[in-house]
Amino acid sequence: MDHFNGLTPAEAERLALLCEELGEAQQAIGKILRHGYESTHPDGGPTNREALEREIGDVYAAAQMLEDAGDIDQPRVEAWRECKLVNVAQYVHHQAI
Ligand SMILES: [Mg+2]
Repeated sequence: MDHFNGLTPAEAERLALLCEELGEAQQAIGKILRHGYESTHPDGGPTNREALEREIGDVYAAAQMLEDAGDIDQPRVEAWRECKLVNVAQYVHHQAI
């Protein structure tokens, strides 16, 4: 029986992976906002900056999996990325864009 959302198990898995990685990136950002880029867990490990770098890489990888599978269109993603860089300039207060 098909699932109501029409997703294949592979499509759902790719979306779940992207969702997980976005959450992990959010967690890393929260740590930086609370404790700074150079802070580490009291037990050691990477800095919060290194943790964010890893999680952003994971997000890129998960997004690429959707592109490679044809779930989303890479040229349209790129067009939206470029559009965002142009449009966000009018809404930021502290960036040298
Ligand atoms: Mg991750």
